[in-house]
Amino acid sequence: MILITGAAGYIGSHAAINFLNNGYEIAIFDNLENGHIETIEALKRLGKVEFVKGDLRNIEDIESVFNKYDIDAVIHFAAFALVGESVANPSKYYRNNVYGTLNLLDTMIKHNCKKIIFSSTCATYGEPQYTPIDEKHPQNPINPYGMSKLMVEKIMEDYDTAYGLKSIRLRYFNVAGCDEQIRVGEWHEPETHLIPNILKSTFGNEKTFKIFGNDYTTPDGTCIRDYVNVEDLAEAHRLAYLYLLKENKSDIFNLGTENGNSVKNIFDICEKVLERKIPVQIVERRPGDPAKLFADAAKAKRLLHWCPQRTIEQSIKTAYEYEKLRNN
Ligand code: UDP
Repeated sequence: MILITGAAGYIGSHAAINFLNNGYEIAIFDNLENGHIETIEALKRLGKVEFVKGDLRNIEDIESVFNKYDIDAVIHFAAFALVGESVANPSKYYRNNVYGTLNLLDTMIKHNCKKIIFSSTCATYGEPQYTPIDEKHPQNPINPYGMSKLMVEKIMEDYDTAYGLKSIRLRYFNVAGCDEQIRVGEWHEPETHLIPNILKSTFGNEKTFKIFGNDYTTPDGTCIRDYVNVEDLAEAHRLAYLYLLKENKSDIFNLGTENGNSVKNIFDICEKVLERKIPVQIVERRPGDPAKLFADAAKAKRLLHWCPQRTIEQSIKTAYEYEKLRNN
């Protein structure tokens, strides 16, 4: 059985669907602090899912999962992931993302489970020194969120040396869209991400969409990011798991489309996909946003045989369908 932590959340739930569709039995561990019970219920309708509500900061909670189920490998998503919040409250981030993961890893070692796929992030690179960013780019995170993920990456290296824990660390760039059948999707409260915020401003009394700065050193002045479709990203986790089974060695992969889209591009595509004008205003820059981030994902394509297929238009369409469902 595969244990997926954080599968009540956005990326974790899509990975859970991918594993279920490929015939795996899964156990889910989630504290439901940011995840949703409705997501777990949707997953339970798709296959064999055991759900345990618990918190990685309590080692007994995670110990109980390993006592109850025979876990072959862990796909570890459970984490806090808001940059701004991590700057204001680093304690929350280090306690959960680092200390919580230590509890998980120690429990895995105790139960002789030595395979893990870890959700890392391009935020571990910090301000880019060059683009596209490959896995060899120096890692100098500029906020506690990125630092918490980098710490875990390093801990995993040491746990490999000392205890033989094999980890695949996946560094995501930006993620977009949702399940084509709209069973799960992106549901954050509060929502801070670009695409759902643009889409939200088309519903009811939502406010005008705000572009955070148009004076960056990019062709149209707005920030450039690499938006990978969440179903393509989910597939990379299964491919990483198969790679780990075959190679039995730790490794690191960037996951992105290798295409940059500016905030303005994304906004224009949203207007086109929705066939309507969306109220917009330019405001101050958001602190901590680098001008340009996009991936060199050649290594994942070469070694994992990962080929992201879905377009940004498809991501925006599915994201919109999910928003509509939630606003009904
Ligand atoms: N952004 C924006 N308005 C919003 C939300 C985001 O202009 O309401 C911009 C943000 O400044 C960044 C890009 O969109 O340049 C992507 O931000 P998001 O929070 O989606 O992801 P991040 O790149 O921070 O992981």
